[in-house]
Amino acid sequence: MLNVPPQAFPAPSSQQRAAAGGRAKVPLKPGRSLMDWIRLTKSGKDMTGLKGRLIEVTEDELAKHNKKEDCWICIRGFVYNVTPYMEYHPGGEDELMKAAGTDGTDLFDQVHRWVNYESMLKECLVGRMAVKPIAAPKEITSVCEEKKQLNGMLPEKKVLSGASKDLTPSYDWFQTDSLITIVIYTKQKDMNAELVILDHEDKRLRGEIIVDDYSYLLEVDLDHAVEEDMAVNIAEKVGKVEIILKKKDNVHWKILGQPLESHNTFMKRTDRGLFYRKCKLVLKTEVTHDTKLFCLLLPESTHLRVPTGQHVYLKQIIAGTEVVKPYTPVLPFLPLDFKEPSCHDSAHIYLMIKIYSCGLFTQALDHLQIGDCISVSNPEGSFKKSQVQTSEDLFLLAAGTGFTPMVKLLNFALTEVSCLRTVKLIFFNRTEDDILWRNQLEQLALKDQRFEIQFILSQPKKDWVGKQGMISSSLLSEFVKRSRKDSKVLICICGPTPFTEQGVQYLKDLGYSQEEVHPFTA
Ligand code: FAD
Ligand code: NAD
Repeated sequence: MLNVPPQAFPAPSSQQRAAAGGRAKVPLKPGRSLMDWIRLTKSGKDMTGLKGRLIEVTEDELAKHNKKEDCWICIRGFVYNVTPYMEYHPGGEDELMKAAGTDGTDLFDQVHRWVNYESMLKECLVGRMAVKPIAAPKEITSVCEEKKQLNGMLPEKKVLSGASKDLTPSYDWFQTDSLITIVIYTKQKDMNAELVILDHEDKRLRGEIIVDDYSYLLEVDLDHAVEEDMAVNIAEKVGKVEIILKKKDNVHWKILGQPLESHNTFMKRTDRGLFYRKCKLVLKTEVTHDTKLFCLLLPESTHLRVPTGQHVYLKQIIAGTEVVKPYTPVLPFLPLDFKEPSCHDSAHIYLMIKIYSCGLFTQALDHLQIGDCISVSNPEGSFKKSQVQTSEDLFLLAAGTGFTPMVKLLNFALTEVSCLRTVKLIFFNRTEDDILWRNQLEQLALKDQRFEIQFILSQPKKDWVGKQGMISSSLLSEFVKRSRKDSKVLICICGPTPFTEQGVQYLKDLGYSQEEVHPFTA
């Protein structure tokens, strides 16, 4: 069934997601970079063959355009002629052809739902699917109460079917002369601050609660203005989240506000659009000759903690096109004292980013000035802390900036996982000058006996006496060994795609199970 969205046509400035990100999966021909694509789309060339005319496309018509030299794809009800994009697709032509002449929405969501195709493929828009019986958005059954005012009576939720219904959070609100308190009953026993993401700007309040792979959203245009700062109280054991807003005027509110489009919905996280807020660049420091630590300040009206092992998306407009890339927040430095859980600074997000001399996104990032703003998304990622919590041996295989997810992971492991006997970082870099936080890592190894560091260089200078080479089966069998015959092991791996893919394969060949290996990918 084709997925026809209910929005106006063409798509309004929707909750913008990402644009082609990560490094290309297949080598692209020269002159086929993202920047080249942006230039082509701005050249005035007729990309659809329809001279700018938008048409209604039937399923039969769509199916006819299923060849490399004539390829149409439907995404969320909109049809794009992707023929001119073929050679520019970072995932390769074959990947794109999997959806040729069909509804590619699911395939697209599986591979890179964060890519901002609306902006990237704007000039390739052929039209909208002719409306057949409208497919309700996945797993949502009731939208009829959408416009009802929130007068204390809870409007009917968009609910999940079957057993998941019992898990659907609910909310209520009350007020005093000066405060509005919204209470969300998450029905989760292990609620914590990382599972609560709140934003409010002007009178618009957005609260997202993460429940495993699902997301509950409260989204309201508040009845009256509130102060920027708010308090969030989380009763972890009972799963109650209290949002306390300060009224700007001490008037009595008759209603909480008007529900917005996705208010009171509970759906799979992957079906929820990414939400961005503007963060201010407050500090930029050098880490190595080409890598910098960016410190971004969250708005006062945002409550957001990026969990260990997860990444965020940054969004910038480059040459008129929205471009989005993923980055993994780190800590400002590697804490050396692991006796106490460190008190994390929750107002800032630190990103360690390599600036590529011909990188589209990182060049634009490097040109940001202190005080400039950049859009930062909600966190995403499949890593779960519970994977480490039962491990006795933790191996971290990092290459280049693939070190970034290891920073919080190291801190978490050494601080909070009491059963860990060994933590070993095997860090692959080109040269000595490329090693990120080398001093800090060496100091940590001196300070904590459980931690060991091994540097491996692929292009060392003559005077390098350490290990050299690329990831290989023999290197891994030398460095990745259980401390005891049957010890529980977790191996995390992150770096350039070929590095990660080869590493996963070698580890499999060496007898490690799928559960024992976690590759970080987009
Ligand atoms: P691009 O314009 O994409 O190119 C980068 C460099 O690669 C250039 O030198 C370019 O010439 C070369 N290149 C691009 N495509 C090809 C090709 N097909 N063949 C050969 N060379 C090519 N990066 C970080 O620095 N820090 C992080 O914390 C971080 N976290 C990430 C988290 C995730 C989940 C993922 C998937 C990636 C992460 N990255 C991180 C990488 C980041 O998303 C970008 O890919 C990176 O910053 C490069 O973006 P760019 O637009 O500047 O470079
Ligand atoms: P780099 O090019 O400097 O290479 C670092 C090391 O990686 C090399 O010394 C080599 O040992 C290894 N390597 C490089 N290319 C390889 C190949 N083709 N096969 C096997 N091994 C190879 O690395 P960089 O420029 O810092 O790039 C880091 C990569 O990590 C980027 O592609 C980035 O997207 C990725 N990354 C991913 C995540 C994530 O969560 N998925 C997070 C951060 C970074």
